[in-house]
Formats: sequence, C-alpha cells, structure tokens
Amino acid sequence: MAVHTQSYTIRQVSDMMQTVGVSLVDETATVTTLLYDSRRLADVAQGLFFALVDRRDGHRYIGDAYDAGVRNFVVMDGWADRELFAEANFIVVADTIRALQELAASHRARFAYPVIGITGSNGKTIVKEWLMQLLAPDYRIARSPKSYNSQIGVALSLWQMGAGHELAIIEAGVSRLGEMEALHRMIQPDIAVLTTIGPAHDDGFASRQEKVREKLQLFHGARLAVYSPDAIADVPVPSDGTHVTWGRHGATLMVLGFEAADDAQCTIRAHYQGEDVAINIPFTDAAARANALCCWAVLLAMGYRQTVIRERMALLQPVEMRLEMKKGINHCTVIDDSYSNDLASLSIALDFLKQQHRHPMRTLILSDLPGESEHKGDVYKNLFKLLEDSGINRLITVGPALQKLAGTYNGMPHESFANTDTLLAALPTLEFQHETILLKGARRFAFERISTALTAKVHDTVLAINLSAVEHNLNQYRSLLPKKVKLMAMVKAFSYGSGDFEIASLLQFNRVDYLAVAYADEGVELRKAGIWMPIMVMNPRPASFGALLEHQLEPEIYSFDILEELLGMLVSRGITDHPIHIKVDTGMHRLGFSEGDAAPLAQLLQNAAGVKVKSVFSHLAAAGDAKHDAFTAGQLAAFHVFADELTAALGYPVLRHIANTAGIQRWPQAHLDMVRLGIGLYGVGDLGGNRLQLQQTGSLKTVITQLRQVPAGDSVGYGRRGRVTESSLIATVNIGYADGYDRRFGNGVGYMVVNGAKAPTVGDICMDMTMLDLTGIHAQVGDEVVVFDDMEEQAAAIGTIPYELLTGISQRVKRIYYYEM
Ligand SMILES: *Cc1c(COP(=O)(O)O)cnc(C)c1O
Repeated sequence: MAVHTQSYTIRQVSDMMQTVGVSLVDETATVTTLLYDSRRLADVAQGLFFALVDRRDGHRYIGDAYDAGVRNFVVMDGWADRELFAEANFIVVADTIRALQELAASHRARFAYPVIGITGSNGKTIVKEWLMQLLAPDYRIARSPKSYNSQIGVALSLWQMGAGHELAIIEAGVSRLGEMEALHRMIQPDIAVLTTIGPAHDDGFASRQEKVREKLQLFHGARLAVYSPDAIADVPVPSDGTHVTWGRHGATLMVLGFEAADDAQCTIRAHYQGEDVAINIPFTDAAARANALCCWAVLLAMGYRQTVIRERMALLQPVEMRLEMKKGINHCTVIDDSYSNDLASLSIALDFLKQQHRHPMRTLILSDLPGESEHKGDVYKNLFKLLEDSGINRLITVGPALQKLAGTYNGMPHESFANTDTLLAALPTLEFQHETILLKGARRFAFERISTALTAKVHDTVLAINLSAVEHNLNQYRSLLPKKVKLMAMVKAFSYGSGDFEIASLLQFNRVDYLAVAYADEGVELRKAGIWMPIMVMNPRPASFGALLEHQLEPEIYSFDILEELLGMLVSRGITDHPIHIKVDTGMHRLGFSEGDAAPLAQLLQNAAGVKVKSVFSHLAAAGDAKHDAFTAGQLAAFHVFADELTAALGYPVLRHIANTAGIQRWPQAHLDMVRLGIGLYGVGDLGGNRLQLQQTGSLKTVITQLRQVPAGDSVGYGRRGRVTESSLIATVNIGYADGYDRRFGNGVGYMVVNGAKAPTVGDICMDMTMLDLTGIHAQVGDEVVVFDDMEEQAAAIGTIPYELLTGISQRVKRIYYYEM
C-alpha cells in the first residue's frame, strides 16, 4: 500500500526514530511514502523502504527496490551490504519494525484531532467502516484501509493522517500476548472502542481473561471508553475517562430488545438516560446488530443527539471487503471493487491489479472520490500521482469532478464521462478487448451496473475461490519450514479444481520457488497468462516436447526412454543445458527410475550436454499415515542413496525434494532443499498436531430454481427412488453429476446447506439438477445453496477423499475469484 500525505525530509524522518547510525548521500531527499514490500513499490522517488525481518528477510529485496529507483532505506544494524548501493540514504536501526512504529507514533503525535482506536475479536472492520459512514457528514476522516490492523498495518494506517483531516479511525488487531503495547504506543486513542470478544481459547491466548486484558491495553489514557460489560469478563478497564457502555444489564445504553420488521431491516430498542430510544438498521443478522450497537454507543459517547443517530443508522450500507475477479466480455478480466472509492482502498486495488499478468492492457474505470470536490486540489493531485505509478494503460473516469480535472491531467490516455449512465450508453464504442479492467467506484455511482454489463453471464452454479485463503494456507505451511527450504506449489489439474492462472499468479506474486503441473499444455496455458517462474511438468509426452522447449517448461524425467527421446530432440535443435528433474521411484511404484538405475543414469547424464539436472526427487506414498511411518522412513533413506550417487557423479549441486503436504507437516527430516505443497494450499489436509489453521478456499454454490410441497406417499426423481413419507417441501437446485456432484450423494447420503440448515438430497442425483428436502427450512426460489460445507466429512460419506471432490467439480462450473482484505 502506498499513500501520499505528509512529506518529511530524510533528516526529519531519522530524527523521528531511534537510530544506530545514519548515512545520507542526499540530505535533501523527501519522504512521502512508506514501502516495505519490493513487489508493491509506488512513488519510488519519495519512498522510504523498511527492510523488515519476519519470515522473510527484507534486506534481500533492497536490490530490487534500489533497481526500481528507491533511494531511502531503513535497515538493521549489522547488515553489511551498504556499499553496493552508492546512491542510497541509509538509516540504521536496531529493529526495523520498531523504527517503523516509532515513525508512525511520532507522525500521529503531530495531530491534535481525535483518534478513535478500535479493537475486539470480531467486527472491527465493519465498526470502523460504519463509523466512517456515520461520521462522514461532520468530519474529514483518515482511517485504516480495509483491515490494516497488524503491527505493520497500524503504522501504515497512521501514516495516512494529514493536516487536512479532522478525525482518524484506526483498527488494532492482536493475536498474541504483548502485541497491544506497541499498537497502543502508536495509536494513543482519545476514544477507545472494544467491539466483541470471541470464544475463550482461540488466537494464542490461555484464557478469555488474558485475551480481554491484552485487548484492553488499548484503553490506557483514553478520554472515552466504549465497550460492553458482557464482553470484558470482569476485567477492569484501564481508563480514567468517561465509560459509555452497552448491554443487557448495568450499561449506559441498556438494550431492551430486537424486532425484525421483515427480511431486510430490524429495530433495536434500548434505554438511555431515562428515556426509551430506538434505531432501525437495514440489516437483521446478529453480527450486524452487535456492530450497530457498538457504533450507537460511540456516537452517544461523542455527544450525538438521538434524532441524528436514528437518521444516520437507517442509512448504513453493507461493507464490501472483497475484490472480485470475474471473466468479462471479449476476453477481458474484470476486477470488481464497485462499493468504495478512496485513495487508500484504490491503492490496494491497484496493487492487486499489478499482480495480474493475463492481459498486457490494464484499464481503470474510476469514479469521483466521494465527498471531495475538485477544488480540494490536494486529494486529486495525490490521486493522479498514485495513477502515474500504477502501471495502468487506460483510464476512464466517471463523475463531474474528474471530468473537469481531466483537461489538466497529462498522464495516460483517458476518457471522461459525466455519470454512469453516459458511460453505459457509450460502452459499445469503448471496445474493451483482452484487458484487465479494474472497476473502482464510490457507492453512489452504482458501478455494479457497469460490472453486470462487462461480465459474462453467470451460470447459477459457481465455485467461489478465496485467493486470500490460498495465500493464508501457503503461509501456514511456510511457517513450518526453515527459511532456506524452497517451495514448489502443485497447480496440476487446474490447481486441484480451483482454477488455473489465477492461483498461479497469486503464487508467483508470493514468491513461491517453483510451480508443477501434470501436462505440458497446462504449463503452456500458464506461460500465456504471464507466469514466468520455473514450471516443472510431471508427465511430459514426447509429442509435447516442442511446446515444452518453446515455453521454457522443465520436464520430469522418469525413464531412460523419455530421457533419450528428449536428448534426441535437444541435439537436433542445438539446445544445451535444458533444465530437467529426475524422478526416482522409492516405493510409490508410479513413475520414476528404479533404485538400481542411479549408476547408468549418472553415466548417461555426464555425457549429455543437452540437459542440466535441476533437481532429483521422489514421492512419498503414505506420509500422512503413522502406521506406515517405517515405510516412509525407508523411502527417504532409499532416496538419499540414489541422490547421493547421482550428484556425486554429476559434480554440480542438485536440489532434493520428497515431501508433499502431509510430508511437510509430519516429516521435518524430509524437508530437504525443497517441498512440494499440494492439497494443503487448498485448505484440506491438515493432520492436526502442528496447529495449522487452514482456511477453506473454495465454496461451491448453487441456487434454488423451484420449490414445491410434495404430498406424503409420492416419489421424487428418476426411478421413483426418492420416497416421501410425509408431506415435504422439496427444492430443485441447479447442480447435477455433470457439474461434478457425485451420484453417490443421492437419496439422502449427501446434503447441502440452505439458509444455515442442512437439507438432505432426495432421490437420485440428475445430470444437471438435484432435489433437496427442505421441510422445516425457511427458503424461497433464488436462495443460495452451499453444496459442500465440510469437504472431508462429505467425501467420507461417499467413500472418497477431498482431492476427488475438489478436482471433480466440472470445468463448466464457473470459477469466480475474490480477494479479502
Ligand atoms: C500431487 C503431487 C504432490 C502434492 O501432493 P499433496 O498431497 O496434494 O500435497 C507432490 N508431489 C507429486 C509428485 C505429486 O504428483
């Protein structure tokens, strides 16, 4: 994320943190933007790069940042490569994260306007966004972008505070003991807010009390303390200020009850300062009610009158925290973020756009920023600056402010429209083609209409893939690996059914070392989608060697036959040193050289100039199963014997790898030089023990197309196999075995989830449809149906494994991708 606000000289910056040494070649350098990720650079000329050290050592990326033009760096004491970067300013500190936090704290301390700090287990981001909506008529507000609430995120959030603001709303998230202290030191909230507290033993805390005590550290020194007594488990709240509370008992805002008027809104009634009061909110779910209560208490604490609160609460808008990526018309990809538009969230969306290499053309359709007139020049100046660094080739603006300013803007080619209607009318003339289009519009511009016009029609059954969950799972497994161990990600079979280049792009962006696919044409598709990282092909066919060589794909070599075929082709084309990977069979008995082949193979390879062995590997057959541990240990030993013999003969270093997902978790001694992560990436396969917290990545959804009451004694479906013993509500949903919903789920073996309740199948599964028994469940036509809520359990019910359920979802089911923030 990169946001431009205040600027400082490099000298001022170094005075704002505790330094060990400062070496400046250019004292006049200005710093406006904080950078910490060399893949997300912006405003490099005025950027300050922090070499943070966590799972990865940020010092390794100083070279990339320097090459991109960054000239100001904060580095750890002891890092010795400064001479390599002659033109750069260096601030040397004992701890770079701490220095970032000191800078943020010192920046925050310059502003006297109020800062609201929000913590809690759930609802922080929604409460922050809703407070923004509720307070925006009265204040110019700086706030944390999306859910930037970590040790780094809070610092970046505070950095956005500027002289033009009148209020800041900052989120603080902690997951371990001792983390809040640093966040509190930075935020120093005037108003401290606790949303809710989740179950006792999650998130690395020993007890609920311990967790509450940690979160309440945020309250020190706050003038106003806002919380619910029900949440704090009798832990004293460390604030001498005024306490404003909500809850059923003993609270300032005493909750009397909720009434849902209809499906779309509810009334919350309460007692406050001797009066009965009420608000209506356009939501009915429990989480929304809890969040609204919290916001209500904050507004009361700030002195708002009940009539104003009531008016504004009725207008609350849902908070979208996803960027959705959809297939568009004319081979476009549409990234849909049509519900908010401000510099911070635009910056995040542009980062995401930069990661996409499917199409060379990147287009941004952008609305006016809400609440900013074109006369408030700074905001738009900053906007244009952001666009300059964004890699966008085409800009389309919507709204009068941007239309007026377009004349003054000399950046990339752009077209301007006064409003969404005129853009929609002109759509055919804009000729979108092979572009990645980012839609970024403030709510009142209703960009969802543009999204509908630009995206291909959605088949009712979709597999929604959460890219942030894939990233999360990757990091979970990475946390089990020593730093030096490389990671190959398995994206075979359309990434286990989860799509193809979208997942690969994400993995490439996350600096995975290798990708592996099953067939050459899968690799070719990835190359066409802009994946340039090394790709291993596990099942190369001689017929595909041409494509393989053309696209720099690296074959797995598993037999003398295939090696000789390849060598022949390489000689005929005059190619040398093409990277290959040697597969050894150590007991799986699928593909691979036999153990006794090492010597003749080594001899052949020594004289084969066409190839260069990048790695030698084998595959564990039962790494996840303790009863086969002796067998697994034997595979590992046999592998080393083979690899030792081969590498000794080759005389150059060769990577060794053998561990799959289960091996990563259960066999640390099998991590070797690299591991091959498969199913775990997709959220399945946690074997317990190591406390991995995997997230489900795919959610298969369909809709109800018809509902009918079927009388007792009738039958449902083909062959009359579904028998109804009492009058039943039967729903037909749009998914069948041709979509990958296994026939074995029929006749009550499987179930789907409708409005939170499990509805068993009735009768046989049809080709395109399935019938469900919804008796006792409230539902209507068009309602969403979740096909799998628990892959492991449902796979077991039909005697298979999650791998098969995942990869069995047919290619005709549309994949949609989203990224949560
Ligand atoms: C599929 C595959 C993997 C990954 O296995 P998971 O159990 O999904 O982690 C690793 N290595 C090879 C050779 C594979 O074919």
